[in-house]
This record gives sequence, structure tokens and C-alpha cells, in this order.
Amino acid sequence: MGYDYDSDNIFARILRGEIPNDTVLETEHSLAFNDIGPQAPVHVLVLPRGAYVTWDDFVAKASADEILDFARTIHAVIEKLGLDPANGGGGYRLIMNSGDDGGQEVGHLHAHILGGGPIGRLVSGS
Ligand code: AMP
Repeated sequence: MGYDYDSDNIFARILRGEIPNDTVLETEHSLAFNDIGPQAPVHVLVLPRGAYVTWDDFVAKASADEILDFARTIHAVIEKLGLDPANGGGGYRLIMNSGDDGGQEVGHLHAHILGGGPIGRLVSGS
């Protein structure tokens, strides 16, 4: 995976409406949809709409509005799906894979929200 933004990556195509998605929530700056290959009973991806490859790229270049919207959209999905452990939910894991060592496959920043049951070990060998 390269670190120059590829505007033909699959999430860019989803954001342009060229490929369908199973939307959970959308806001001005962010989109949340169900992962096509769920690794847990609940597996939602949250993306900023802007063209950012990694978390670091996003924090360095995004506007304060985009960063706040992304953070709040993640929170809103957690609340919408009843995962918030402080609000009666069972909890969840929030993951952002970055770069090769992080196992990032799609070069458009996305957060994984995993829940709906015990998620298991933090890191498993491959
Ligand atoms: P990562 O390895 O962090 O880049 O995660 C990429 C994620 O995107 C994987 O969990 C895939 O299952 C998911 N994915 C790939 N294509 C699609 C798609 N068309 N719709 C929803 N999720 C997708």
C-alpha cells in the first residue's frame, strides 16, 4: 500500500456512490457502514469523507471540524448500536490499522468498531 492517496481505492469509490454500502450513519464529514467481511457480530467502519490515507495524515491535514465530526461519528455509532459500556452496552474495540505493519489494506483512513460479544485478544499472530 502506498502513502499517496489513490482516488480509486474502494472506500473513495463508496464515498462517490460508485459502489453500494450498508450505511449505519452519515454526517457532513463522515460515513459509517457495515464491514463486508465482519470479524465480530458488530463490525462497522467509520471514514472521514476527505482524502486521508492514515490517522497521521488526517490529524496533520484535516480541519478541526472534520476531526471533531469523525470523533463524534464514531461515538454516535457506538451509542446507536448500544455498545457504550457506560450506558448499558457490552463494550467494543476501536481499531485503526495504519500502514504495512498495522495491516492496513485500504488506503483511506477508517476506524473499525467491533462489538456484540467478546472480541478476544488484543493482538493475534498471523
Ligand atoms: P483494513 O485492513 O484496516 O484496511 O480494513 C479494510 C476493511 O475493509 C476490511 O475489514 C474489509 O472487510 C473491508 N472492506 C473491503 N471492501 C469493503 C466494502 N466494499 N464494503 C465494506 N467493507 C469493505
